[in-house]
Amino acid sequence: MKKLINRTEAVVGEMLEGLVAMYPNLALLSQHSVVIRAEADQVRDVQVALVAGGGSGHEPAHAGYVGAGMLSAAVAGEVFTSPAPAAVLAAIRAVGGKPGVLLIVKNYTGDRLNFGLAAEMARAEGLEIETVLVADDVALAATQARGERRGLAGTVLVHKIAGAAAAAGKTLSEVAALARQAAGNVATVGLSLSAGVIPAAGRQTYLLADDEIEFGLGIHGEPGAERAALQPADELAQQMLDRLLSGYRLAAGDRVAVLINNLGATTNMELAILARKALALLRDRNVIIERMYPGTFVTSLEAAGISLSLMRVDEALLQHLDAPTDAPAWPNLLPLAPGDPRERIVVKVDAHKPDHEAIHELPNNRLQRAIQAACKALQDAEQELNELDRITGDGDLGASLSRGAKAVEAGLPVYRLDRVSDTLQAIGLRLQDAMGGTSGPLYGALFLRAARAMHDAATDAPAWTRACFAACDAVRALGGASAGDRTMLDALSPFAQEFESAITQGESPIAAFGDAVTAAEQGAKATAQMLPRRGRASYLRKRALGHPDPGAVAVAIWLRAVFESDKEPRP
Ligand code: ADP
Ligand code: MG
Repeated sequence: MKKLINRTEAVVGEMLEGLVAMYPNLALLSQHSVVIRAEADQVRDVQVALVAGGGSGHEPAHAGYVGAGMLSAAVAGEVFTSPAPAAVLAAIRAVGGKPGVLLIVKNYTGDRLNFGLAAEMARAEGLEIETVLVADDVALAATQARGERRGLAGTVLVHKIAGAAAAAGKTLSEVAALARQAAGNVATVGLSLSAGVIPAAGRQTYLLADDEIEFGLGIHGEPGAERAALQPADELAQQMLDRLLSGYRLAAGDRVAVLINNLGATTNMELAILARKALALLRDRNVIIERMYPGTFVTSLEAAGISLSLMRVDEALLQHLDAPTDAPAWPNLLPLAPGDPRERIVVKVDAHKPDHEAIHELPNNRLQRAIQAACKALQDAEQELNELDRITGDGDLGASLSRGAKAVEAGLPVYRLDRVSDTLQAIGLRLQDAMGGTSGPLYGALFLRAARAMHDAATDAPAWTRACFAACDAVRALGGASAGDRTMLDALSPFAQEFESAITQGESPIAAFGDAVTAAEQGAKATAQMLPRRGRASYLRKRALGHPDPGAVAVAIWLRAVFESDKEPRP
């Protein structure tokens, strides 16, 4: 287990102390793990109080939903453990007054019993109490009656709606009725890729193989409805929706709010990919998506996974969803714009110069062979370069260069292969467009500058020498690196120098080229002994020693490939 905690016994208390330290509208009951609105006393006899809660480990639920317009108090149990009746009662006493208290309880046995007993005790003290159960889990629809289903992320929408009703001054029975209407209209299904780690247990509650997912899970690390195979996100979105709609009536023209919840460790990237498909599928069914709430609402510690909730809404429910709240975890979002979101995916303007009409692929052309060889070598080296970049950087250089190589290859039919300068320029433009990262702009500059040096020049050895130096200058100017900084320059620069000196000593261009490639390879190798001073690797300092710089190795790889392609018989 690797967690930012102090002691496993202290996680809940310290978390709540941190929350009230961060959010001035929250306060903590010192004897209990209960977070309340800081101004609870001022509103106690003015509006219905809302109390919710449950085990911890679902952050930002539930304390994150405490605030004006949402919950009055949230009770926190130990991780994945229902809070005791005494704590719930303390919360009720802290916020409840004449208008009464509504308990919003997720449908788990422990929560039902503990909140139920607390409600009895509070009634015995003369308080008016109502309880609304949320059972939005539809994964278990086939096997369990509606009342037996678990409460999941859809509960947050119930909190929001009931909170807005209470803030608007509605009576306890009105607030409870609206909350029941909301709870009756929400359905949720989830899936997970990995379970969370309970601090006190120190390990994952279940283990999934790399190609497995848990479908229809709860939020306490308990297994779901079934174990299934990992599939593309679009496929899983479809299955989630199928599952949702099997236990939930939804017709064309129905209006819904959609909540896509991160179970803890899902990247926003994955969340958006799933949302993309889920929303498209709903639109295909002509369902009207009135509101979309993406984010981290109810987690299961650091479980990787997602849940999808739908709530059928009418004008009144929507108004309550839109009403203001200062609860820290409620997203204050713009209503979805009408129309198809795909209309907002605008066509990218192509930065390339217009391709000319003539096809210039020439049989056995030297330049063409060189380009093909370099591109193939870079694609072949993708894994190796990724691995090198993983050690000292972020592991993407092989992929970036391979992407760049494919883009350059794809341009072969339209390059002016009879004009070296034009071709180099086209390559530079394609590389900067396709590669990204740090290397992308550097390669772009390198080829554009070389192209300029070759403009109007003969394609003889002196011209190539000037182009090589110009290319190095461009990389230096843009990236700010010098020789010895452990970058691609430490291969490029030896190449240019060796090429020049071999030509000066009267070697044939092809022999000089060979020597220069060897110098580039030696330069790349030597970077293993250099301290990184540029780029991402510079954060590593001495830890980079012993591993060559991936950018320099890449330069040696494509230069070697170009050289080998040139040794073959040529026209
Ligand atoms: P990142 O992923 O950090 O954006 P890339 O993976 O695209 O970068 O490229 C990493 C390589 O870029 C390094 O191995 C190094 O050769 C080269 N590099 C990084 N910074 C510079 C710089 N300032 N000048 C020249 N080359 C650099
Ligand atoms: Mg990188």
